[in-house]
Amino acid sequence: MFCSKCGEKNVGGASFCMKCGAPLGAGVPAGPGPGTGNTASFSQQAEKNLIKGVMDLVNGFCVGFVSVVMWPIMIGFKIVKDMCDSEEREE
Ligand SMILES: [Zn+2]
Repeated sequence: MFCSKCGEKNVGGASFCMKCGAPLGAGVPAGPGPGTGNTASFSQQAEKNLIKGVMDLVNGFCVGFVSVVMWPIMIGFKIVKDMCDSEEREE
């Protein structure tokens, strides 16, 4: 068992390095290890899910915007246009 921090050879089964005192063992990765990688990939996956959720939200918002906002505006324009036409006819 070699210390991952200082490289000192320690007896098998030792929990800590005899030279520098760093923790030994597969469960204690030194620096960037599998644990850090998993965290990064998890963050990227979460980021992808977040982006996908935002895109779905944007798409849903666009549909909702057209149906909820654009229709009243279009109907409103038609009413205003009819009013203008009627006013022109009265004059
Ligand atoms: Zn050491």
